[in-house]
Amino acid sequence: MGWRLALAINEVISLIIKEDFEIKNLTTYKIGGKVKKLYFPETQSEFTEILKELDNYIVLGSCSNILFSSNGYNGNIILTTELKQFEIRETKVFAAAGVKGPLLAQKTAEAGLSGFEFMIGFPGSIGGDICMNAGAHGQCISDNLTQCCLFDTKTKEIIYRNKEELDFSYRHSLLKDGRYILLHAEFELKKAPQEDIQSLIDRNLEFRKNIQPSLKTPNAGSVFKNPENDSAGRLLDKAGVKTYDLPRVKVWDNHANFIINKGGATSEDVLTLMVMMYNAVKSQYTIELKPEILFIGDKTEKEEELWNILYR
Ligand SMILES: Cc1cc2nc3c(=O)[nH]c(=O)nc-3n(C[C@H](O)[C@H](O)[C@H](O)COP(=O)(O)OP(=O)(O)OC[C@H]3O[C@@H](n4cnc5c(N)ncnc54)[C@H](O)[C@@H]3O)c2cc1C
Repeated sequence: MGWRLALAINEVISLIIKEDFEIKNLTTYKIGGKVKKLYFPETQSEFTEILKELDNYIVLGSCSNILFSSNGYNGNIILTTELKQFEIRETKVFAAAGVKGPLLAQKTAEAGLSGFEFMIGFPGSIGGDICMNAGAHGQCISDNLTQCCLFDTKTKEIIYRNKEELDFSYRHSLLKDGRYILLHAEFELKKAPQEDIQSLIDRNLEFRKNIQPSLKTPNAGSVFKNPENDSAGRLLDKAGVKTYDLPRVKVWDNHANFIINKGGATSEDVLTLMVMMYNAVKSQYTIELKPEILFIGDKTEKEEELWNILYR
């Protein structure tokens, strides 16, 4: 890094870099070792400045869809949690990468705008939601998206892409390979009576009470994606995985597609249980489930082996 770059970084983010920082408490799994450098941009210009200056990094949002390595990560992580700016203008919503879905669901409901009711029940950020094309209850984030402002890590330029250019499908988008970073997004919602929106939100929350663990029980949502025309939860349940209980992790009693951290779990514990679940479905149904949660960080040799079974 040249002197100009070093100066720029020091000027912009001197107060919000954490070094050798243990990330586990920032993840919903409460798992993860030390990160060499963790950046917390607070404005769009700080965010783009960091993206321009650093060569290697991973951008994360609420860390609610990831399994972070207990061995940590010997590199840069940029967390968008402080990028909280949003605006509602008539039926348009503008949101920065770090805005939390449940907050936006509530604020748009108060403004009489429908389309974000599904986001009430899970803690994703707008950047993570768009990357994963997050969805629930028959709605998903790409439904009402009109435009994204992205940072192209290859050209280091800021570009705009509309929904059709973002290659959305089930839990997939153009952002998934890491080339494009979401800076902010624009949505067009529909006007609806506030009480109808609120009652849908309440119904969604009620529905989730029994089928997903709360964040007090550390987890990262569904472990595996649904195979075409089937449900990973159903297959896992039929394969008997609800009885799988290791010393620090177990399959959740109420839903077979959730792994919970019973306390002090490591990334290897989770990967081990994931492989057991994967094998159970494979041997009974010859279906190879694909993980929905993403592994981030440096792997041990054992983790590399487990990862190869699940993610290859
Ligand atoms: C209790 C619980 C319930 C859940 N229920 C659901 C559900 O019903 N439906 C559902 O779809 N998901 C669900 N999830 C999973 C998760 O909340 C979503 O996948 C969410 O979209 C992840 O957002 P995040 O900000 O946490 O992303 P992270 O976990 O931080 O990151 C996920 C991916 O997004 C990328 N990313 C993050 N920010 C950006 C950015 N600005 N630009 C480019 N890439 C970025 C990361 O690099 C990573 O590849 C649930 C999770 C939990 C814990």
